[in-house]
Amino acid sequence: MTNTNYRCPCCRKICSEPHDLARHFLGQTDKKHKDWLKTQGLSYAQLITSQAEFGNKGYDTLAEVLGKEAPRC
Ligand SMILES: [Zn+2]
Repeated sequence: MTNTNYRCPCCRKICSEPHDLARHFLGQTDKKHKDWLKTQGLSYAQLITSQAEFGNKGYDTLAEVLGKEAPRC
């Protein structure tokens, strides 16, 4: 069984679950992280809003993208 970890595309943070990486991502407010979201067609403000209004929807959306796009290590 392989142990896949996901690395943040913007810094050296490594998480074993896309959801953990999503949580990390939404905790970052620097331009680098926000700009990466834009390249994925996502908006930081929108994710934060949907997170507040619809439970974990912001995390779920971002985790799905990160699960596909984040570098594996
Ligand atoms: Zn990061």
